Amino acid sequence: MSYRNGIAEEKLREYARLMVRVGINVQPGQEIVISCPVEHYAFAHELIKEAYLAGAAEVIMRWSDDVETRQYYENVSEETLSTVPDWKAQSYLYYSRRGAGHLSVSGGDPENLKGIDPMRMHLREAALEQALEEHHKRMMASEVPWSVAAVPQKKWAKKVFPELSEEEGMEKLWELILKSVRVWDGDAVSAWEKHNAFLKEKCRMMDEYGFEKLHYKNSIGTDFTVGLVKGHKWEGGSEKSGTGTVFMANMPTEEIFTMPHREMAEGTIVSSMPLSYRGTMIKNFSLTFQGGKVVDYHAQEGIETLKSILDGDEGSRHLGEVALVPYTSPISQMKTLFYHTLFDENASCHFALGACYPTTIEGGAAMSEEELLQAGGNTSMNHVDFMVGTSDLTITGIKSDGEEVLLFENGDWADR
Ligand code: ZN
Ligand code: ZN
Repeated sequence: MSYRNGIAEEKLREYARLMVRVGINVQPGQEIVISCPVEHYAFAHELIKEAYLAGAAEVIMRWSDDVETRQYYENVSEETLSTVPDWKAQSYLYYSRRGAGHLSVSGGDPENLKGIDPMRMHLREAALEQALEEHHKRMMASEVPWSVAAVPQKKWAKKVFPELSEEEGMEKLWELILKSVRVWDGDAVSAWEKHNAFLKEKCRMMDEYGFEKLHYKNSIGTDFTVGLVKGHKWEGGSEKSGTGTVFMANMPTEEIFTMPHREMAEGTIVSSMPLSYRGTMIKNFSLTFQGGKVVDYHAQEGIETLKSILDGDEGSRHLGEVALVPYTSPISQMKTLFYHTLFDENASCHFALGACYPTTIEGGAAMSEEELLQAGGNTSMNHVDFMVGTSDLTITGIKSDGEEVLLFENGDWADR
């Protein structure tokens, strides 16, 4: 048997198979768009093979490259940053209109864009958001199956395990990633079935409660109440696309999440983990809300970046996601900061500033932007998750008649 960074080829194939079969759940005759950094070509090859084995009509590769991306942001004019050629926009729209599955492999240097002027990135984001609006809407509303998973990369591994050699770091990161996606011992597909059933049961329980608001409290200074929209739905684990395909948008995933009311958030939230945003770290920050809006904020490090997020657009100062993750979740127990939202958000209860997920309110997928805002949902070009879960976090659910239910105690489900 041959090995890559000490990880058996068989495990990599199992991971690729899991992403193709459970992640986007490729259907016979379906087109599959795979986004992948060029340095992970070997893993992409496994994905391509698995996708065709599952009956894909065509696999379309979108290669990316950290060096190219950095060079781009350092060199192109503001005009280029704010221009998205029509052919580029059309290439996204073409496939999402046809119901293609979108599989995204993440795994680059988390600090690749460190030091780039946030305004330049903002220009690009805004241009892409405008040009790809329809495509993004389809993804956010889960009309097409999509899935994101990660593969270790040298600089990323060094960032997570600075004390280890490059080789040891890569090996360790592979191990943690594979464990987090349950490709370690036993059958990964059946492990996901069991895990998915647990998340679905929690969603059912929370939907039945139908809380009006949630109150968060812990010893690092969080004392915060967030309102939930009327008709909110809790989601977690698998989703169903517009064409009826059951898929897993994030691998790993440990969260259940719903829609906060954009005008109902009061008090202060203190971050429990640093936020790595486009290569810049924001550390030990807090946000104070009034009437659903951030009115004050602090950060020990990265305040300029935090400000650029909050000033992104009108919706960036309001919440779009409330997510519950037990402090005892496997990723949390790894006691590792991954500098990667896909992992860090699954280690901790979190919120997101910016866009809500329309699927987390009754009838939301069919709502226009105005209707969504009317219902209390939030719209924004941003969706930035930040972590608030601690080992002593208490969350209390409050019903509209004032009845209170203790949901989280010592950072975990109280009824566990
Ligand atoms: Zn989340
Ligand atoms: Zn999120």
